[in-house]
Amino acid sequence: MTHPDSPHVAVIGGGICGLAAAHRLARRGTRVTLLESSDQLGGLGTFFAHEDQWVERFYHCIMPSDVSLLALLGELGLRDAVRWRETTMGMVVDGRHHGFNSALDLLRFSPLRLHDRVRFGVVSLLLRRLGHGRDLDTLRTEDWLRRLYGDVVWEQLFAPMFGSKFGPSFGDVPALYLWQRLGRERNVATRGYPDGGYKTIIDALRTSIERAGGTVRTETPVRRLHSTGGRSVLTLTGGEVLDADHVVSTVPLPLLRRIADDALATRLPDTDLPYQGVVTGVFFLRQPVTEHYWTPVLHSGTEFDGVVSMSALAGTTGGRHLVYVMHYTDRDSQLYLDDDAAIAARWSVQLRGLYPALGDGDIEEVRVFKAPFVEPVYPLGYLAARPPVTVDGTGLLLATTAHVYPDVTSWNSSVRLANDVVALLADQPAVTPAR
Ligand SMILES: Cc1cc2nc3c(=O)[nH]c(=O)nc-3n(C[C@H](O)[C@H](O)[C@H](O)COP(=O)(O)OP(=O)(O)OC[C@H]3O[C@@H](n4cnc5c(N)ncnc54)[C@H](O)[C@@H]3O)c2cc1C
Repeated sequence: MTHPDSPHVAVIGGGICGLAAAHRLARRGTRVTLLESSDQLGGLGTFFAHEDQWVERFYHCIMPSDVSLLALLGELGLRDAVRWRETTMGMVVDGRHHGFNSALDLLRFSPLRLHDRVRFGVVSLLLRRLGHGRDLDTLRTEDWLRRLYGDVVWEQLFAPMFGSKFGPSFGDVPALYLWQRLGRERNVATRGYPDGGYKTIIDALRTSIERAGGTVRTETPVRRLHSTGGRSVLTLTGGEVLDADHVVSTVPLPLLRRIADDALATRLPDTDLPYQGVVTGVFFLRQPVTEHYWTPVLHSGTEFDGVVSMSALAGTTGGRHLVYVMHYTDRDSQLYLDDDAAIAARWSVQLRGLYPALGDGDIEEVRVFKAPFVEPVYPLGYLAARPPVTVDGTGLLLATTAHVYPDVTSWNSSVRLANDVVALLADQPAVTPAR
C-alpha cells in the first residue's frame, strides 16, 4: 500500500512502459497516478474483440531473450502463461515464395546468383562476430552491409527489406541497430505468445497497480504540463489540475512537446528525431496461407512489405487464420492518410495475388490499424546524442522509445527502461510545494 509521506508520481501514457513504471512504483509504496488518453490501456499493444477473443491491432510476440519482460511476467504470475513455439521465416521475391531458414534453403534461393548465396550464408554466420569491438554506432548500415555482402545483396535484399522499416533513409541508420536486432531475432526462432493475448498482461498490470494503492485513469489525456519549483502541474480535460512531485512521461517526444508549456518546452531535449508510423492490415482467413511466422515481401507489387502469420505462433483465432500485413510509413504519407476501407480493399486483392490459392470467400474480415509514432529513425552517433532521461530542475523524467536505443523497440526494452527510470526516482525526495 502507498506510504502517506510518499511523493506523488504521475505517469503519462498507459502503454507497456507507463504500466510497468506505475506497477513498480506502486509496489514499492509510492503514490502513483497513471494517465492514459485512450479508452484502452496497452498503447501499441492494444487489442480489439473478434467474436469472443481479443486480437492485437499490431502483431506482437515475446522472445526468450526478453529477460526484463519475462521477469515482470513472473511478478504478475504470468510466466507460465507464455506459450512458446519454434517459428520459421519465408521470403517472397518477385512474387515467388522461398523458405529462408536452412543452408539448403539458401542454396536454393534463386533470386541471388550462387556465389552471392554462398557469400550471404558465410557473412550472415559471422556477422555478429564481425561487428564486435567496432564502433557500429557511427557506421552507416548501408556502408557496413555493402562492404560485407556486396552491392547485389544490398540492393536486392537489404535495401528493400530493412528500408521498409525506416523508409528511404535506412542506409543512414547506425549499423549498431541492425547488430542488436540480429542478436534478438533469428530466422528459425523460438517465439512466445501469452495465453489470452496481450490483454492478459495489460489487465494483470492494472490490477497490480490498483491493488498496491495506485490510480489508473483511462480517457484522461494530459492537455498541458507545467513545471514550477521542481514540481509539476498537469492539466487534464475539463480544466482539472493534478499536482505531482515527479512526472514520468512515456509519450513520444513530439507529443510531449505539444503538451509542455513554453517554459518547460525550452528545457526539453532539442533532439528532432523523426519517427516512422505504421499501417497494418489484419486478415481473418478461412484457410492458412503460409507456415512461416514472418515473410518479407520484396519487389512483388504489393503496398505492404511483409506478412506475419500469427496463427503459426498462436494457433487459430475462433477457427480463423490470423494474418497481419504491414507497411511502415510517415504519418503524413498518402497511404497513412488514405481511407481504411480503401486500404482493406486494395490489400485484399494484393494478398490474393500473393497467395493465389486463397479463394474469393476465404477472406472473412479485414481490419486496418494505424499508429503515427512507432519507430524512431536513429541518426548516426545516436549513443552520444540520445536525450537524457532526466530534465534538469523539473521533476520530469522521460521514458520513451527514443531512449531504448541501441535496444530494439519492444515490450522488453520498454520494461527495462521503466525499471531504470523508477530506480532513478528512488533517490529523489518529494519537493515541498511552492506557495
Ligand atoms: C506493428 C508493430 C509490431 C510490433 N511487434 C513487436 C513484437 O513482436 N514484440 C515486442 O515486444 N514489441 C513489438 N512492437 C513494439 C512495441 O509495441 C513498442 O515498442 C511498445 O509498445 C512501446 O511502448 P510504450 O509504452 O513506450 O509506448 P506506447 O505503446 O506508444 O504507449 C504510449 C501511450 O501514451 C498514450 N498517450 C499519448 N499522449 C498522451 C497524453 N497526452 N496523455 C495521456 N496519454 C497519452 C498513448 O495513448 C499510448 O497508450 C511492435 C510495434 C508495432 C507497431
